[in-house]
Amino acid sequence: MFAILRRTFVLSAAAAAAMPMIRRAEAQSADATPIDFTTVLKYPFVVPPLPYAYDANEPSIDAQTMQLHHDKHHGAYVANLNSALKDQHEFHDTSLPDLLARLGDLTETNRTTVRNNAGGHANHTMFWQIMGGKGGEPEGELAEVVTRDFGSFDKLKSDLNQAALRVFGSGWAMVLVDSSGKLSLVARQNQDSPLMDRARVLFGNDVWEHAYYLKYQNRRPDYVNAWWSVVNWPRISARYAAAKAGTLAI
Ligand code: MN
Repeated sequence: MFAILRRTFVLSAAAAAAMPMIRRAEAQSADATPIDFTTVLKYPFVVPPLPYAYDANEPSIDAQTMQLHHDKHHGAYVANLNSALKDQHEFHDTSLPDLLARLGDLTETNRTTVRNNAGGHANHTMFWQIMGGKGGEPEGELAEVVTRDFGSFDKLKSDLNQAALRVFGSGWAMVLVDSSGKLSLVARQNQDSPLMDRARVLFGNDVWEHAYYLKYQNRRPDYVNAWWSVVNWPRISARYAAAKAGTLAI
């Protein structure tokens, strides 16, 4: 299922930039986009292409928001990250997760810039992967662990929504997965990434205003509720299996 991790096709930065828009009909067949995360997640970092069309999350998330969010916001995080690391040659072979876990090794001048922009790159790379779906509920093993660790799927939804609504200002509400497969919930400010603590993210929601303001303005609760309709459970199940196997790229 998780073709992204298994396929060996290498997507260069140039190819990524030139990649034509995937039609919505094709996006429905899921996992059509091969991404080599070793290219995406090492200097010079690149924004991975959306694995679906900009309008694939309509009407919950409008196409204009997706386009600005992916191309401009994520694009800026990657550009700023590359710029900050340009002369830091000792980090050019460091993977994004390792970079986030080693912020203390950076110069003080660069540390905050890298924290914000490497976090932004990691968070958004995850975020695109777990949307473009049809919502509904998790199935199989993931459904069982959701019930085990949260009580029920409805409880997970309300807990994650509450965490998303409690974020003051900008940030994220996420579900973490440890190597034994246990799930837990976390909220982070700004672009702080759980990877800074070497934790792994199963999925999560971006509650920066740039993620919803064009369509929802100040109505974050409406966005947070609608977001569940585009969550891609097959992809999240694949991420869960990868996390347990130790192969979750980001
Ligand atoms: Mn964002």
